[in-house]
Amino acid sequence: MSPRILLLGGTTEALRLARRLGPESIYSLAGLGRVPDDLPCQVRVGGFGGAEGLAAFIREQGIELLLDLTHPYAAQISANAARAAELSGVACWALRRPGWQAGAGDDWREVDDWAELVAALEHFQRPLFTLGREPLEHLHEIPLHQHWTVRCLTAQQAVPRAEIIGARGPFALDEERALFARLGTDVLISKNSGSASTEPKLQVARELGLPVLLLRRPELPAVEREFAQLEDLWGALQRRLV
Ligand code: NAP
Repeated sequence: MSPRILLLGGTTEALRLARRLGPESIYSLAGLGRVPDDLPCQVRVGGFGGAEGLAAFIREQGIELLLDLTHPYAAQISANAARAAELSGVACWALRRPGWQAGAGDDWREVDDWAELVAALEHFQRPLFTLGREPLEHLHEIPLHQHWTVRCLTAQQAVPRAEIIGARGPFALDEERALFARLGTDVLISKNSGSASTEPKLQVARELGLPVLLLRRPELPAVEREFAQLEDLWGALQRRLV
């Protein structure tokens, strides 16, 4: 019989895996994005109340394997998953997607946090932010010489010196080229998610010789098994099932 799996999601890979799980398993989402209604497994939306809450859920539901396929920057839930696995005595496996690597012609600079990012942006005029909603909290702080474009999941009304675009990957290379050209982007800001679906923007920055400011990846906890590729995790899961 298949183990009862709790899959922590919110990424493309997690959704792809959820489509292969049976009705005994649960796909868990924080509730920030779209909730699929066509999955063969159960779907649960919302937080658990920290590591202790997650451990309690695992025990109550008789979960036998915890899978962490959350985003590489979702550090809190990954820490909770590792701790909850310890507390409840179930195994935790994680997909730890490798980050993008700079290649020839790339000018990538890592920053630790918002303050460092703002300082690094000082000499640019038309930054394109593609790291989620954080810039929206700082729209009142835009320096007079800058015009920001913020691309995040949901659009918002423009404010003086800022445009807020709502868009969801995957992003095609041609569309990214057109966007950079329309905006006159002179610097790109991103997380280093390592996702193929958002990678074309890096190619465009390379073509245009633009610098890229990357928010440093958070440290994630070690868990029982870690996989770089979804198919490797899936293979291990299959072997565990037989
Ligand atoms: P986070 O800071 O690590 O987590 C904040 C809280 O949200 C967690 O403590 C947990 O609440 C709840 N949570 C997060 N993921 C959950 C899940 N899969 N199922 C149930 N509860 C969850 O996470 P975040 O950075 O806000 O990201 C939230 C979700 O969006 C994650 O699932 C992540 O995979 C996805 N996502 C994040 C990013 C990003 O850049 N951070 C990008 C794309 C997608 P409790 O403590 O109450 O359990």
